[in-house]
Amino acid sequence: MTVVLRGLAAAPGIGIGVLALYHPGQIVPDLSRHPAGHPDQEWQRFLEAHALVAADLERLGQSDNSLIAEIFAAHQVILQDRTLLDSIRTVIYDQKTSAVAATQQVIGELAEMFHSFEDEYFAGRAQDILDIGERLLTHLGADLSRAALSRLPPQTILAADDLTPSDLAQLPAGHVLGIALAYSTPTAHSAILARSMGIPMVCALGQALFRLTPGQNAIVDGNSGRLLAAVSEEEMTQYAAERQHYLEEGAVALSHAQAPAVTVDGVTVPVLVNANSPQEVAQSRAVGADGVGLLRTEYLFRGRATPPTFAEQQATYAAFMAQVDHQLTVRALDAGGDKPVPFIAHHREDNPFLGLRGIRLLIEQPELLRTQYRALQAAACDAPPHLDVRFMLPMISTAEEIVAVQAILDEEDPCLLQGKELPRLKLGIMIEVPSAALIAHRLAPYVDFFSIGTNDLAQYVLASDRTNSTVARLADPLHPAVLRLIKLTCDAGQAFGKPVSLCGEIAGDPAAVPLLLGLGVTELSVPLPAAPLVKETVRHVDLSSCRALAEAALECDCAAAVRELLAQP
Ligand code: PEP
Ligand code: MG
Repeated sequence: MTVVLRGLAAAPGIGIGVLALYHPGQIVPDLSRHPAGHPDQEWQRFLEAHALVAADLERLGQSDNSLIAEIFAAHQVILQDRTLLDSIRTVIYDQKTSAVAATQQVIGELAEMFHSFEDEYFAGRAQDILDIGERLLTHLGADLSRAALSRLPPQTILAADDLTPSDLAQLPAGHVLGIALAYSTPTAHSAILARSMGIPMVCALGQALFRLTPGQNAIVDGNSGRLLAAVSEEEMTQYAAERQHYLEEGAVALSHAQAPAVTVDGVTVPVLVNANSPQEVAQSRAVGADGVGLLRTEYLFRGRATPPTFAEQQATYAAFMAQVDHQLTVRALDAGGDKPVPFIAHHREDNPFLGLRGIRLLIEQPELLRTQYRALQAAACDAPPHLDVRFMLPMISTAEEIVAVQAILDEEDPCLLQGKELPRLKLGIMIEVPSAALIAHRLAPYVDFFSIGTNDLAQYVLASDRTNSTVARLADPLHPAVLRLIKLTCDAGQAFGKPVSLCGEIAGDPAAVPLLLGLGVTELSVPLPAAPLVKETVRHVDLSSCRALAEAALECDCAAAVRELLAQP
């Protein structure tokens, strides 16, 4: 009989194959095979291994896949950390142990410390530390029991408690058709990578995953967040047809992707992409996007000791302006919460999602905000004339914050740079804090546009941390309470003639598109691979039916009822 495990959808698509269970190699080298030599020799051995790991990470950091590159650049920062090196040196000299034993001990302690943090983001970094430790130990000659992930056979459905970025990076291309994890969340590094590699993934399945038998047939349904094992022939046929349909639908949508998204009743809906890296900006045209509706600039600031300079940012934004059509919306650095930035000294916060995050941090560090805006202004001087360049503020909760930002941006020669006149850019705000949605009609006069961030809005409205797998299920952006706030925002936008974009992940779900348009959203900004299908969906809807659907959804009691409504033909 088919076994069905329910978890969280982490990367879309359907993968069908044969189940392989992976228990990550633990750092348990046989120490009797590594007796301690003289501390000078052991330290030297360690430094040699360290240099080899640095070279590995340098190579991986140059991957064409920008997410892989970014993750390994961050590993390089951890590897070069003085505290790590000093601790290993101290153990070698003070305890007269081998380089292998000292590395094992220090990495183990450090990973344990990170693991104990309540903050899921920091707890998640324990995997990165273990990953680096395994690399060091491998170069020190320690024989690890790491499963041969790189030799997994074709048609594999890979099940594990969690996977490190290195685990994913070494999967043989095309062999792993789906990933099922006992833990982790859709926002973890592994999920981000799986999405970018196009491998369907489900996470938070729990320990029941390990009661399954390797070699059974299995299906990862990355759309509904389920893993099926020992699947009956009938269900297998059904899923194979569904997978085929999913792939064909994607291919058809891609073939029409360059045509505009116009509803049956003649309304054009701009469909843009959310870009997290230069590669995603570069791919936006190929998927038919009407530009970039959310450039998450955090990637520019991560994994480095100092912020990017004005010149660096200007060159980056100028390059992007040449690569996108119609619109480029650059979001100001959204640091804090689950996105710490190394050169910003964060105080320890018990609830970082409710702490010094996004615009709150930028108002405290105005130079960061001003430099970013000036660089965008300077780049916009030479932008193609038709390009709509926008600057967007994250985590706005009050009108005073917008006023404070305007004062910061207006300081010091707002219009002139080395004698050159700078254009005034459209300034908008993310609506992702409930207070901002509730007073959207009061905020509208201050700004040129709104962009609704349902990823955060849902977590704040439903008091459910978006990175915590045990409650993540609650933070459903289709909950009627969230929909009511979307409606309030759209009504305010319409009353003041301001565009209202929606850039949370839900905008990329074709089933939700008619509802969002019915609520009054005027632009959609979606994860890159979703753009063709979202455009195709828009072409089949009629706005008056969308409005009726939205009215019915607003009257629902719960997210499940809304989802049922959307599933009706
Ligand atoms: C959001 O919160 O919905 C959003 C788009 O921003 P991020 O996911 O970067 O917080
Ligand atoms: Mg957000």
